[in-house]
Amino acid sequence: MSKSKPLTKKNDWSVEDSTVLYRLDKWGKDYFSINESGNIKVSPTGPEGDSLDLMVLVKELNSRNLKSPLLLRFDDILEDRIKKLHGAFKNAISHYEYEGEYKGVFPIKCNQQRHVVEEIVTCSREWHFGLEAGSKAELLIALSLLDDPEALLICNGYKDKRYIETSILARQLGRKPIVVIEQLDEVDRIINATKKIGSAPFIGIRAKLSSQSSGRWSNSIGEKSKFGLSIPEISQAVQQLKDAGLLKELILLHFHIGSQINDIAVLKNALQEASHIYIELKRLGAPMGHLDVGGGLGIDYDGSRTATQASTNYSLQNYANDVVATIQECCKENQVQVPTLVSENGRAVSSHFSILVFNVLGTSSIPSDTRATTEHECLSVQNLRQTLRSLSEEPHNIGVDISRLQEAWNDALKFKEDALAAFRLGYIGLEERAKAEQLTWACAKALAVKLPKDTLIPEELNALNAALAETYYANISIFRSAPDTWAIGQLFPIMPIHRLNEKPTQLGHFADLTCDSDGKLSKFIDNGQAKSLIELHRLNSNEDYLIGMFLGGAYQEVMGNLHNLFGSTNSIHIRMAKNGGYKLDHVIRGDTKAEVLNAMEHDSEQLLERLRIASESAIQQGKLKINDAQRLIEHVETSLRQSTYLQE
Ligand SMILES: *Cc1c(COP(=O)(O)O)cnc(C)c1O
Repeated sequence: MSKSKPLTKKNDWSVEDSTVLYRLDKWGKDYFSINESGNIKVSPTGPEGDSLDLMVLVKELNSRNLKSPLLLRFDDILEDRIKKLHGAFKNAISHYEYEGEYKGVFPIKCNQQRHVVEEIVTCSREWHFGLEAGSKAELLIALSLLDDPEALLICNGYKDKRYIETSILARQLGRKPIVVIEQLDEVDRIINATKKIGSAPFIGIRAKLSSQSSGRWSNSIGEKSKFGLSIPEISQAVQQLKDAGLLKELILLHFHIGSQINDIAVLKNALQEASHIYIELKRLGAPMGHLDVGGGLGIDYDGSRTATQASTNYSLQNYANDVVATIQECCKENQVQVPTLVSENGRAVSSHFSILVFNVLGTSSIPSDTRATTEHECLSVQNLRQTLRSLSEEPHNIGVDISRLQEAWNDALKFKEDALAAFRLGYIGLEERAKAEQLTWACAKALAVKLPKDTLIPEELNALNAALAETYYANISIFRSAPDTWAIGQLFPIMPIHRLNEKPTQLGHFADLTCDSDGKLSKFIDNGQAKSLIELHRLNSNEDYLIGMFLGGAYQEVMGNLHNLFGSTNSIHIRMAKNGGYKLDHVIRGDTKAEVLNAMEHDSEQLLERLRIASESAIQQGKLKINDAQRLIEHVETSLRQSTYLQE
């Protein structure tokens, strides 16, 4: 944001206020800011480069009949992240005068979408950036896309005979696949495959470190972890390789201590332990040459720079420095030549480039209108009216007596209970019960505005705000587009992408389209913690209210599922154009209903045919007019071709 220009202000609210409120300057400063129109500005090559107005972009996509929800992929951001990663290692290498190089790989499991992997491979050629495969299917992607003979292809995951043989043949093809032994029984398979083909693969070993990790993925490490070889297993593997004459192919040591490392101290311990294993392997006669520190470089989702779940207490540069310095120190002490450094950073490379933009279909409102008093109202309704009156006489904020508010709220709840009991017993009708509920909500609202902001408030009263919060109905399925929010309580920055020069007056959370009560977004970033409500705007009629979910480019797409048969959203690859403006490199249409039905083995033709037969018989029985039958079939036919999300 330029400070010199006058910024539009509505309701004493400026875009700076929004920047602070949504912590945009903390988690998004590299690529996102707010422009003078109060819209999100995307600067895909960093704050100094060209930028575009996200709201304008979305409108122009809408005009091309690409409707929300939209997954926007800024390939320039992806490229910039790869550039930053290599820049950080380059800095560290020259700063510490490290006498080796850095060669990263992208772990395909983070985002396997063809256009994404192709983009990564294409834009990173100058660094010989490679790929990491964790399964046979991922190996096939890597084999076909990675044609740079200098780029590494790290072969992880469980391996059968065919996996290993394929890697050997890929080496003969001129690629650089390294088969990383993750399980001891893979050693035999490698030896057998080598004999069979008459040629060996490059070999790596994954070590099970004993360093304790922390955070969500801490069980990826330690003696009981699912992956890697323990120290006794490593020495057994080395002996077996030696006996088979294959020790000369052992060129890499690998470890991975889990994703989203929150605390850099954890990484340092692991680096020290791994460096010493590396040195030992060299002493045992393996040529080595590569030390692969895995993934785990975290993202500061809430911008708090703390060692908490949604954050990290280090920067990309800190990470690179620690990797370089720690390994160098250990090698120097032991007079061992430093290795080529390999890392497998997925989350850190691919999180920033996608933004999920969705529209809000409506909001729930609290039924707090108070109907006019009528004759012979029941006692509980009269009491509630009295409570509401007394509340309006209480002073605001300063000087408010919290215990009186608490008492009034307890009264209101008691009177509402009385009304419910009377309804159950048949003493009052629907009308009176409705009044009692509305009056209770009206009391809650009256109370909420009187609560002082900065004093300690009893738990029951604090819960009022949450009870009064509005539900914003979001045109997405979190199970499809943000599964980690549900599965592991992951936090992503979420905020409106426009109207940011306008004060958000509502507190709300989101409910998605699925018929699942877990289908909601109700945890939002805060300073190192999470909050359950977020500040939002009141909907304007005739205007979409658009929300962005940021930093979700890693893991979400493939982990997403078809719950309630909501399919993929439209995804669009955007590149900034040389002459200013932007171009759409790829438009990938979201799943149609026919496609998601097909995924469940339903044949859309058959489905239509059944309906046709049923409607013919209804026509014959005189129950359905031919016109209406035709209309029904047309609705279904069109619907099958369209997106699974709500359109109009
Ligand atoms: C998942 C995984 C990665 C990627 O981890 P990030 O935290 O996304 O960087 C790297 N290496 C291995 C072996 C993995 O399983």
